[in-house]
Amino acid sequence: MRVFSGSLATETNTFGPMPTGLASFHDRGYFAAGKHPDHMTFFSGPLWAARLRGKDKGWTLIEGMVAGAQPSGTTTRHAYETLREELLGDLKKALPVDMVVLGLHGAMVADGYDDCEGDLLQRVRAIVGPDVVVGAELDPHNHLTPLMTGNADVLVCFKEYPHTDVLERGLELVDLCAATAQKRIRPVAAVVDCEMITLVHTSRQPARGFVDRMQSLEGKDGILSVSLTHGFPWGDVPEMGTKVLVYADGDAAKAQKLARQLADEVIAMREQLTPVSPGIDAALDEALAFDGGPVVLADGADNPGGGAASDSTFILRRMVERGITNAAVGPLWDPIAARIAFEAGVGARLPLRIGGKVSPLSGDPLDLEVTVKALHEDLVQTGLADTPTSMGRSALVEANGIEILLCTLRNQAMGTDLFTGAGCDLAAKKIVVVKSSQHFYASYSKIARHVIYADAPGSVARDLNTLPYRKLRRPLWPLKTAAR
Ligand SMILES: [Zn+2]
Repeated sequence: MRVFSGSLATETNTFGPMPTGLASFHDRGYFAAGKHPDHMTFFSGPLWAARLRGKDKGWTLIEGMVAGAQPSGTTTRHAYETLREELLGDLKKALPVDMVVLGLHGAMVADGYDDCEGDLLQRVRAIVGPDVVVGAELDPHNHLTPLMTGNADVLVCFKEYPHTDVLERGLELVDLCAATAQKRIRPVAAVVDCEMITLVHTSRQPARGFVDRMQSLEGKDGILSVSLTHGFPWGDVPEMGTKVLVYADGDAAKAQKLARQLADEVIAMREQLTPVSPGIDAALDEALAFDGGPVVLADGADNPGGGAASDSTFILRRMVERGITNAAVGPLWDPIAARIAFEAGVGARLPLRIGGKVSPLSGDPLDLEVTVKALHEDLVQTGLADTPTSMGRSALVEANGIEILLCTLRNQAMGTDLFTGAGCDLAAKKIVVVKSSQHFYASYSKIARHVIYADAPGSVARDLNTLPYRKLRRPLWPLKTAAR
């Protein structure tokens, strides 16, 4: 069997302050055809799974381009079209193939394209024709459009949030695609729109039980795959929202019945899915009042993984103003401050202007008297599913009893080695503020005595009713302004 794999992935925050250009893909991970390294990267799950399966089964795997960008604002038309054409060109060169398995995200928006993955899959289908199996692995924060489901035989979303199951879902995808190519199964899709949008933390109930239930339904009674699309609320596109996707073996009515039933279950628990998010001072009060530590405080509104700049100062400013000490904050994306710290050298004490540079949603810069504690030419943290994530040149500085991690590559906090690798004794801190919405949880929950999801200003604002939606065309709970 001849198998083609490649990736083109980012998650677009249409309210984000910075465009996503080609450099954003090269920063996070760009590998031309045949150049993918010898470890899985975050959006190469299908490629990696096809390598693993192909070895056992004697497949000929043709590896096309793999490109993924840190989430940010709308992707430029130039970046999307350039990378799309490269991937499609790789596919054309690989023909004939029996199956195509792609690592996508599902919430990429570019200038002139509200549905990049639908556009890409449609073009893939046009190239390979109706008989070649086309599948993709998606992030659950996707928009699941009819163009996507209509042009793929199988779409499988990560089930876990934090997304720790990239490889497991990738293996399921390639197995389902291979079975389809060999005519052992005939996947038929059903999508039911829950007409809602919320955050689904699978680390806690009731989402945990729901994920377990989805998994228990697969591989039985003709049900091939069940995915919950959480939706990505910071992407203002007509199809945004929470949906259930079910594939049954040749039985459309069965897929539809289960998708409807599961969607009704999601709707029934939507109030419980939404995490409680105290404001900055309430979150700091709660952390200080907690007996012991570390208390991990998530600054999801400035999460680069949701398209924020990761240089906001709102929480750090209040910590300084309130005289809070024995704390750590990071990662702040501030290449200028990091550069100055590198010039000053370890042990130097100097005034440093930190953060607040990208947009009003970053707040104002903070002027602090800092001591440079450590410098790292390339600080690498352990990302989700053990994918190494480079933070670039990084500096750990201390001011007013708070250690601040400054980095030059924009990535969210995922592994505790982000701090410990930089020389910060995380376990001894009372408060640790992380720029992350939920991915931090997989690693930080191992050291945290308590976790607080704070509600601060930012590009990934947690109060969705503050977002100026223009393109949504249907009512979505709990948005008051979406329908038009
Ligand atoms: Zn996601």
